[in-house]
Amino acid sequence: MGHLELDLNLSDEAKAAGETARRFGLEVMRPAGEALDKLADPADVIAPDSILWDVFRQFRQLGFHRGAIPAELGGMAEEIDSMAGVLIAEAMGYGDAGLAVSLGASAFPFRLAALSPAPEVREFARAYCEDQKAELIGCWAITEPDHGSDWIMGMAPTFDDPRCAPSVRAVLKGDEYIVSGQKAAWVSNGTIATHAALHVCLDPSKGMQGSGLAVIPLDLPGISRGKPLDKMGQRPLNQGELFFEEVRIPTSHMVVPDPAMMAMVARIILASANGGMGIIFAGLAQAVYDEALKYARQRVQGGVPIFEHQNVKLKLFDMFIKTEAARAYARRMALYNALNSLSPSCHHAVAAKLLSTQTAFEVAAQAIQVFGGNGLSREYPIEKMFRDAKAAMIEDGENSALAIAAAADL
Ligand SMILES: Cc1cc2nc3c(=O)[nH]c(=O)nc-3n(C[C@H](O)[C@H](O)[C@H](O)COP(=O)(O)OP(=O)(O)OC[C@H]3O[C@@H](n4cnc5c(N)ncnc54)[C@H](O)[C@@H]3O)c2cc1C
Repeated sequence: MGHLELDLNLSDEAKAAGETARRFGLEVMRPAGEALDKLADPADVIAPDSILWDVFRQFRQLGFHRGAIPAELGGMAEEIDSMAGVLIAEAMGYGDAGLAVSLGASAFPFRLAALSPAPEVREFARAYCEDQKAELIGCWAITEPDHGSDWIMGMAPTFDDPRCAPSVRAVLKGDEYIVSGQKAAWVSNGTIATHAALHVCLDPSKGMQGSGLAVIPLDLPGISRGKPLDKMGQRPLNQGELFFEEVRIPTSHMVVPDPAMMAMVARIILASANGGMGIIFAGLAQAVYDEALKYARQRVQGGVPIFEHQNVKLKLFDMFIKTEAARAYARRMALYNALNSLSPSCHHAVAAKLLSTQTAFEVAAQAIQVFGGNGLSREYPIEKMFRDAKAAMIEDGENSALAIAAAADL
């Protein structure tokens, strides 16, 4: 990563973790992401011999998956320098944004399981920490075919409108919940996950406010999957539907069984997801800028490297300003929220998500102009980065819907 490190307070631990993650991002994730992006059929991305699994395994072997889980369950939450976690996420976005999301989303149900008082649920987190073969993969199953933005409007007045009630229902019967319904094809890791953090409707009369959150293994009777989703950007990121037909789960798996509690938990999740997106896509913006600068120094037109032409120089400096600003803000927000994990600032996290994804998209569009025709060619990295950035403006909440929701906090 070609930026001058302006943050002079980084600990040695954070610097070392950032450097390891940068090497992993550039040497493992970048080439894997480029190869996976070129596969025409998204089913090949997750084939048993796919390079995707090498990425997952190497990530686990580095221990990066254990960051947010307490030591008593095999994690490193108490030990790891908060800034180290931020730099790891940034370097992964620099390597490949879609794979960074896949690896990040994979941890989510296990992080949630670690918060449960039920020993059998906490065991999911322990097994995940121990897993170096990437046999356990998580997903965050929230979006439904008829409820996308509805889920993220938690800070808006429509949240308790019964018309917005989620369609995946969990009905309490004795010591079990019976779960039925469908999650959308957008669930990241949807067709490869072994465990889900599953948002369910507990009380439809309260709309989205009547929801709860379960952690469940996805091999239970009554669960089936759709085909891997074929989409424009972040193609290395597997996505697909989950179907639930009268699935019986023990009450202990409903980690948030009380809708009143859900409001607080939803804010923590929103801040964490958007904060992560802010960091990952600041990393992508940096990757785009570095590629454009490198190309401008090599490509000769008019007898000189195109960097010598004023229009190219101005474009690159504008890209540099935006990238520096997005990274500085995303880091600052992520560190604050990491240190205040139970009362994070949602609107700052959403602001970082919007700033970084918009920046990545804008610098990628500028980079295509710098590359000229080669910017459109699949032989060069920029058109993929442009597609990856575009997807991010909808991922984890469409940007304008997120802005409306977060503005309620101003
Ligand atoms: C790459 C990627 C990864 C994703 N990963 C996951 C995942 O891991 N798990 C998961 O569950 N989901 C995931 N999603 C789904 C994502 O969260 C949704 O796509 C997103 O919330 C938008 O929902 P939607 O697509 O249904 O759009 P819609 O909600 O239909 O929105 C369409 C348009 O209408 C506008 N709109 C909708 N409602 C309102 C409103 N109330 N007020 C104002 N404007 C409104 C929106 O701003 C948008 O412009 C992912 C999506 C992408 C693209």
